[in-house]
Amino acid sequence: MSSKRHILTAVAWPYANGPRHIGHVSGFGVPSDVFARFQRMSGNNVLMVSGTDEHGTPIQVLADQEGVSARELADRYNRIIAEDLVALGLSYDLFTRTTTANHYAVVQELFTGLYRNGYIFSKTTKGAISPSTGRTLPDRYVEGTCPICGYDGARGDQCDNCGKQLDPTDLINPRSKINGETPEFVDTEHFMLDLPAFAEQLSEWLKSKGGEWRPNVLKFSLNLLDELQPRAITRDLDWGVPIPLEGWRDQPNKRLYVWFDAVIGYLSASIEWAKRTGDPEAWRKWWQNSDAESFYFMGKDNIVFHSEIWPAMLLGYSGKGSKGGEPGSLGALNLPTEVVSSEFLTMEGRKFSSSRRVVIYVRDFLERYDADALRYYIIAAGPETQDTDFTWAEFVRRNNDELVATWGNLVNRSISMAAKNIGHIPEAGELTDADRAVLDASKAAFAAVGERLNRAQFKAALQEAMRVVAEANKYFSEQAPWKLKKTDPKRMETVLHVALQLVSDAKTLLTPFLPASSNKVYEMLGGTGTWTGMPRLEEATDSIGGEEGVSTYPVITGDYADNEARWESIPIVPGTPLKPPTPLFRKLDQSVVDEELARLEAAAGS
Ligand SMILES: [Zn+2]
Repeated sequence: MSSKRHILTAVAWPYANGPRHIGHVSGFGVPSDVFARFQRMSGNNVLMVSGTDEHGTPIQVLADQEGVSARELADRYNRIIAEDLVALGLSYDLFTRTTTANHYAVVQELFTGLYRNGYIFSKTTKGAISPSTGRTLPDRYVEGTCPICGYDGARGDQCDNCGKQLDPTDLINPRSKINGETPEFVDTEHFMLDLPAFAEQLSEWLKSKGGEWRPNVLKFSLNLLDELQPRAITRDLDWGVPIPLEGWRDQPNKRLYVWFDAVIGYLSASIEWAKRTGDPEAWRKWWQNSDAESFYFMGKDNIVFHSEIWPAMLLGYSGKGSKGGEPGSLGALNLPTEVVSSEFLTMEGRKFSSSRRVVIYVRDFLERYDADALRYYIIAAGPETQDTDFTWAEFVRRNNDELVATWGNLVNRSISMAAKNIGHIPEAGELTDADRAVLDASKAAFAAVGERLNRAQFKAALQEAMRVVAEANKYFSEQAPWKLKKTDPKRMETVLHVALQLVSDAKTLLTPFLPASSNKVYEMLGGTGTWTGMPRLEEATDSIGGEEGVSTYPVITGDYADNEARWESIPIVPGTPLKPPTPLFRKLDQSVVDEELARLEAAAGS
């Protein structure tokens, strides 16, 4: 039973229509990495996958505006996003993209399996054509007034003002974006996913999750079941995965809807990862073993795709909906163990908005501040279970009070005193009750912090870890080893030994949250080898899955499994040489707050 668990960490796919801002990475990015790193340290087999989501209308519209192809636009933002996620230290086993031949093949296989089992049916709806040319007008080229919010520039697939998905026939006063003429609506065929055919299975599955999932996520998911409707999975669009059926495959203006292909990315990326490792069947351990677990991380606007639509697709492909059926050629696939959704982050009291420039992009943030400072803020003060406001004043306060003055200070004063006076980790003499109490509390923290991390309660876990740091600081101040230098040097060495053990433990407890600075502390304490692995970019070609690739693209990967980091108190070894410490974190001047607010105002006002 205590054998290694197989844990899929499935991270929401960022949409490649621009760089990602800190609101995005606080929803899907940092929490998933904290979870994956903790599980690896606990000895479990983690597979963490994601990639950029690159199809659909918004990318095509933006590409049209810029006069480039959709693929060129996706290439640009795929690279920027991948670079930013590496800079943030997110330990993906594979971060890829949805425009690979492998992804296309897996998406088409899922479609085929669902279709064969009767969970996809075709339906005749009204589609727009241009009266002057007789050509199909893709949804994005039909504009009009939104029937829900009255916004005049709504598109035939969605309203950018209220965010609702639309059909071109929903628009009031529809017109062609190309030449302004009123489109004609003629009968056209589309495919629908039969979601009501999974109502019973989804309900049973969700009800089994009571007490495990975050209550707001479970409640929201159960409420969705009241409104289950068949959902269109194809669009009149030329940018996306072709429909793998005779008579459809070659139609230039029919593609699978972007959300249908994007959720399959978790599976296709796992298969791509397995192929890259040279063991193409390896993905199955995370998707088909009966005791494998899968945790999906996202912001709350994506819950519907992960607690309703993706599970329905997995059930249908496996032949487990109300219409039965046989598993597709990949075999039956597991349902998610947990959908871990964050709430929203706002920015100085306003909603993040790239178009209104109320935003701070990950790249700009990391040019001015350290990745661990941002990671710390996102977990300590981020939107884990309720909407939360990012403020620069709070960012500076937490950086200075908690990272610099509490954790950084403990590391600095204990290691520098030991390095200066002894040069290596000293022996401990006889321990006092106070020594034993603080060491026992530190050891006990592994179970307490670990239990919270295992349940995706990241904020509480970090608070518990920081409580240990505060206790260690208190111990150091009370024992005042600097006063013992002349009077009782043996006792000074014992106190320093205890303090360094506490620093070592705290570094381990903080590793999932602060991997880069934990690596530094490990080195200061004389550690060798890699404490915790950091991600890297590799250039890949899209030659897997059949088609010969021409261009290269960046994938994120890394070596995380055989590192030194383990989730336990590892005894420090007397005699190990110490490195004189350098500051772990940078203290930020109060003027940072004014500068950043001025920057935000200038951008939003321009
Ligand atoms: Zn609207």
